[in-house]
Amino acid sequence: APDKTTQKLQSRPVPRIDARHVLHPWADLSSLGTQDALVIHSAKGVRVRDSAGKSYLDAIGGMWCMTLGYGREELAEAMADQARQMAYYTPFGDVSSEPAARLAEKLAKLSPGDLNRVHFTTCGSTAVESAIRIAQYHFAAQGQPQRRHVLSRINAYHGGTYLTQSLSGKSADRTLFHYEAEFVHHLSSPGYDPDRSNISAEAKLQELLSEMEAEIARIGPENIACFIAEPIMASGGVLTPPEGYQKATCDLCHKYGILYISDEVVTGFGRLGYFFASDVRFGLAPDMIITAKGLSSGYQPLGAVLISDRIATALARNAPADKPVFSNGFTYSGHPVACAVALANIEIMERENICGHVRDVGPYFIDKLRALRGKDIVYTVRGDHLMACVECWTGEEVGPTAANMALAQRVDSYCQEAGLLVRPYENLCILSPPLIITRSDIDRIVAILSEALDRAEADQKAGKI
Ligand code: PLP
Repeated sequence: APDKTTQKLQSRPVPRIDARHVLHPWADLSSLGTQDALVIHSAKGVRVRDSAGKSYLDAIGGMWCMTLGYGREELAEAMADQARQMAYYTPFGDVSSEPAARLAEKLAKLSPGDLNRVHFTTCGSTAVESAIRIAQYHFAAQGQPQRRHVLSRINAYHGGTYLTQSLSGKSADRTLFHYEAEFVHHLSSPGYDPDRSNISAEAKLQELLSEMEAEIARIGPENIACFIAEPIMASGGVLTPPEGYQKATCDLCHKYGILYISDEVVTGFGRLGYFFASDVRFGLAPDMIITAKGLSSGYQPLGAVLISDRIATALARNAPADKPVFSNGFTYSGHPVACAVALANIEIMERENICGHVRDVGPYFIDKLRALRGKDIVYTVRGDHLMACVECWTGEEVGPTAANMALAQRVDSYCQEAGLLVRPYENLCILSPPLIITRSDIDRIVAILSEALDRAEADQKAGKI
């Protein structure tokens, strides 16, 4: 029989155990160990249930990643079958597994242009970091090692590792950690909100392009390896650039021989209605695309860099003869169980026409949300298909002021109380529901959010925030 200490530990509630032992990503250090976590215990479709049995409509989609919904038997079976047959073997060198090879072939077919070479990783961050290393290697192998500088943007989010956090440009995340600054440069945030801007989209576009060209000239194009960009910024606050920005920046990069890396970790795999949004939606011809999250519908950690034939061929041709090894990758790169579930995910997405469904319900979702703009505490509502956010304000200063953030936090907690999970970030409520969301669940999300906004507004007017 277990001794007393073991019994006591076993009977401790999970939120307590978690508070005692886990350091979460983006944890609030000021309440470390004192704040009980919301422990999600089970989930089905677009709903999750916590350890106390309360059900929530998940309007965050896990973390932008739960695309096909929870509890899909077919996905569970694909993982179990692969785990039984061969859970893992090394992907290093010239060893492979069937799911990884088949998934690479499928991704080459789904992606635009000649992005036919796939380097698998374990998540979005490792894929972004690998893409930057590939760009730097590509030029170094051509005798241009100085061509290592990277352009990114304020408000970008590219991951949680040392380099990807350095590429990211969210001021709230810039804390006492150290960031690479020698070769990373940030351009202005491209977010443009026609409802709230006092300049035209065309003027904003020209402003952004002039700045980019001036920065390229300042650093020297011969020193810049690549530009990395999310087609629409996700975690930075669902920031959409002015019309034409994505293609124009890509053209500018190519004019100067700079590689364009499109980070589609969020925008890909259906969230904007296509497997990849780069070309169909934004007219981009990227040299590399990053994918993760929806690639496996969140059922397994997986990421990938899709590389153009042109670059892959050059890497092979220019690698030094005495040391031709591509020393980048991870123990779990292209994990067979993760690749098996990604293949099953794509099969379901195609069979159920998930992208078509998103193109159908996406505009409905955005229209419904935009109807909330009439409320006093809503500064703006922005988004595209199934990525959106509501920005709160007290009616005074715009942006993440303490008062605006308190207001948004109140909205989030009222939503949670009423059984809706939205993602709180600064003074924003971010929404990215599973792609299988129906019109009736969209109505429910908007109804709960609307009531939460009204309650928060009443609190503010009564001086309770
Ligand atoms: N790139 C983008 C655009 C993201 O939104 C994220 C994560 O949210 C990442 C990269 C990093 O992905 P991961 O958290 O899987 O490492």
